[in-house]
Amino acid sequence: HYKYLVKGIEQADSVVVDYHKMMMTPSLSTALIFKRGSDAYKTFSQRAQYLWTEQESEEWYNGGKRSFECTKAMSVLHVYTLYRTFGDSIFGENIDTLFRMATEFSDLISEHKNFELAYEPQCNIVCFRYTKGAEDFTELNRKIRQMLLEDGRFYIVQTVLNGELYLRVSLMNPLSTISDLKELLLEIEKKAALMKV
Ligand SMILES: *Cc1c(COP(=O)(O)O)cnc(C)c1O
Repeated sequence: HYKYLVKGIEQADSVVVDYHKMMMTPSLSTALIFKRGSDAYKTFSQRAQYLWTEQESEEWYNGGKRSFECTKAMSVLHVYTLYRTFGDSIFGENIDTLFRMATEFSDLISEHKNFELAYEPQCNIVCFRYTKGAEDFTELNRKIRQMLLEDGRFYIVQTVLNGELYLRVSLMNPLSTISDLKELLLEIEKKAALMKV
């Protein structure tokens, strides 16, 4: 559904994919994909004459000739195992699920009078803040987040947009539900209420 977000990607000479973001692999699983395989021997090639006899030849089995590390973890195994077990449609389904959840969450926020949405989400990340009963929303939201983290039930991050602090939720787990997110909003309201006492 979201192919338009990477429109033109086929024209790139190389593309980096962080599979540990939304493709359900443990970290670290990053691929550097080249249009022309031989380009792999340029950017990160190392000079290590004690490891190979010729510098210029392209040998697939000499990892150091085309990667920054010489000995590498076989991180492609994470991705390959998922592909072999579930096929590729599971990756698209996961992205559809997480993006849809972000939109539903942002709808909840914009309908709620005590919250303000920073912008309409374009992916699985939602930025918002609590905006009731305070002079300084930055300080209020900073404290709310601190209290959430100390509780340990929710983990969210913060970010700064136009000089003001916002709460930032990245939806990564397909087992999260919209009712978890409703509870997060309730919990934020509880924290805000505590602060006024
Ligand atoms: C993934 C990500 C990082 C961290 O990169 P890693 O390779 O996972 O360590 C930092 N910033 C943004 C915006 C990211 O998406």
